[in-house]
Amino acid sequence: MLSLLKYKNINYSTLQLPERVHINLNKNAKRLALRLDNKSKSIRYTVPKGTSLSKAQSFIDKNYEWVIRCLESLPSDIILTDNCSFPYFGQEITIKVKYEESLKVKEITLNDTNLTIKTASEIYGNRLRRWIINDFKRKVNIMSKEKAATIGKEIKGVKTSDTKTRWGSCSHEGKLCFSWRLAFAPLEAIDYVVAHEVAHLNHMDHSKSFWALCQDLSHDYKAGKKWMKENGSELMRYVFPE
Ligand SMILES: [Zn+2]
Repeated sequence: MLSLLKYKNINYSTLQLPERVHINLNKNAKRLALRLDNKSKSIRYTVPKGTSLSKAQSFIDKNYEWVIRCLESLPSDIILTDNCSFPYFGQEITIKVKYEESLKVKEITLNDTNLTIKTASEIYGNRLRRWIINDFKRKVNIMSKEKAATIGKEIKGVKTSDTKTRWGSCSHEGKLCFSWRLAFAPLEAIDYVVAHEVAHLNHMDHSKSFWALCQDLSHDYKAGKKWMKENGSELMRYVFPE
């Protein structure tokens, strides 16, 4: 990783940066620039290759207050812990943790609007994360297959990811991939992202015909697309207890 921050004999990893500021050493960049990335809750510091260390340091020092203000303005995390309510597939659900000392394996069940976690220990974050990913995958798999069937296509598999750069993708072989964080989005938004990727099975571009198909495959693609554009970064707020 460190070698990526070196150019000739300039080692940019020696720069004094505030926390959550990451250097992006770029040979095509013309000038120094700072950009807030809502999704990763960090700031990307673009440094053209060959910039002197003193110049790179003084730029960050000059903008120090802006950086801090920007990071502080980010919405706070929502920790998925006991009694926390959060949107899940378009429904507000509440976490209920029940301690049972004798329990060997943690049990998670979703009943109506209660997500009950039966556990012997207070450490259930990872287990909850796995449950959400699996449940999301199962639901989105069904949605994808149903939509694909309407255009005579077959899905070759659905994968999940936690990528900060895209909510979904579709490969040439017909494999779809979705960010499991979509589980926290309203239904029309999930529906739109699924329709979008399924439409790519027919059109590997964003042409007019692609958007026409995307519209046919979704309930309200305009509303879903708008929600994702305006609120997508909100999905990154959900974190699991340690
Ligand atoms: Zn696309």
